[in-house]
Amino acid sequence: MKKRFKAEPFKIKMVEPIKQIPYEERVAALNRAGYNLFALKSDEVYIDLLTDSGTGAMSDNQWAGLMLGDESYAGSRNYYHLADTVKDIFDYDYTIPTHQGRGAEQVLFPLLIEEGQYVISNMHFDTTKAHVELAGGRAVNFVIEDAYDTEKYHPFKGNFDVEKMEAFIKEKGKDKIAFIIITITCNSAGGQPVSMENIKEVSEVAKKYGITVIIDAARYAENAYFIKTREKGYEDRSIKEIVREMFSYADGFTMSAKKDAIVNIGGLIGIKDDEELFNKARARLVPLEGFVTYGGLAGRDMEALARGLKEGIEYDYLEYRISQVEYLGNRLREAGVPIQYPVGGHAVFVDARKMLPHIPYYQFPAQALGNALYLEAGVRGVEIGSFLLGRDPDTGEQLESPLELLRLTIPRRVYTNNHMDVVADALISIKDKAHTLKGLEIVYEPKVLRHFTARLKPVGE
Ligand SMILES: *Cc1c(COP(=O)(O)O)cnc(C)c1O
Repeated sequence: MKKRFKAEPFKIKMVEPIKQIPYEERVAALNRAGYNLFALKSDEVYIDLLTDSGTGAMSDNQWAGLMLGDESYAGSRNYYHLADTVKDIFDYDYTIPTHQGRGAEQVLFPLLIEEGQYVISNMHFDTTKAHVELAGGRAVNFVIEDAYDTEKYHPFKGNFDVEKMEAFIKEKGKDKIAFIIITITCNSAGGQPVSMENIKEVSEVAKKYGITVIIDAARYAENAYFIKTREKGYEDRSIKEIVREMFSYADGFTMSAKKDAIVNIGGLIGIKDDEELFNKARARLVPLEGFVTYGGLAGRDMEALARGLKEGIEYDYLEYRISQVEYLGNRLREAGVPIQYPVGGHAVFVDARKMLPHIPYYQFPAQALGNALYLEAGVRGVEIGSFLLGRDPDTGEQLESPLELLRLTIPRRVYTNNHMDVVADALISIKDKAHTLKGLEIVYEPKVLRHFTARLKPVGE
């Protein structure tokens, strides 16, 4: 029997026109962009799956909240609504708003890290790693090996290898560990969830050694949905109950609210009960982000965020959301397009190494696939592979990424499954001519963060 997918639990009140520019114009646009999809204008893109960050559609309730913005410099009522919502959902006493996730990281991390200490994660998100390093720390990852096997089914591919992690803590000594950060879902491993059992085990090890636990909470709701649908014992628990339990095992969180909280800009620090840490973080907030009751956000933004936090944990919404990601994943899998399996919460990851075995890592197969998808249908994905990874800082040599993936990231409440069909049909037709695709070479690259601004050209052209 064909799996039935959950229809949208909303109807559409306002539309934003999009269009597919003609093929010849796509060829010209890609050439002008130096074969780097980041350099396209959004008007040149038909279906934009670059990121799910800040690209979601707010509800009428959130838009209505914007009109209730209290723009008082100090003590805005929207801040108190936000803090009450955090208390209600996460059961954390202290709330600090920031302009986005990395704002939360830059405020909190230097308070927890001493020069030369390690920060342990299942897998650090890239800005998270950057802020660990800026604060003098070193980022180490302990995600389970299965995360790197795109074909192997595992319900919680974002889990920590707890034994390996504990061995590392023993080897280095607990004083060398600044904190443990649990990334839910594990973005860099394909939006893969972490099980409640694993979160609990990590927190037990942390307790044993007196180490602080932080949650990188961007996709708190999607992770809770996976626990409800995949982990024994949680079938009958509400999403909110699951979120509360997950966060009970940590001491604090940093959050990019641009993901599961469905706002276009915003972030948060949550602290469970450590008043001293809260006061220190607030003292850093003022010079870096803004006064303690707005932290870089307008009052209206905090109102939309408070409302979005609640909408993000609605079961019907989450069921539809994950079902749409599965819909795209299933269509590709059924047609033999290799993807990271099972699909994660916010994106489908196409395994470009498997699809384009003739293109070596140093000619960026996932970038080549992304460009082909743009030419085929005006769809923009993003390369997560060797092009993103970059060069060895000492030797300048191109590093080889363990995975060469094209990420198709699905914005929340924005596209329909008809759009997903356009994406799937385009990739399926590329599969039949995959052997004709060419690799890429770099024409220009900056020293750091080249992914965004480098220029490339097809090999031999
Ligand atoms: C997006 C994201 C961040 C950074 O948040 P921004 O809002 O982009 O600054 C941190 N961690 C994870 C897991 C993320 O997905």
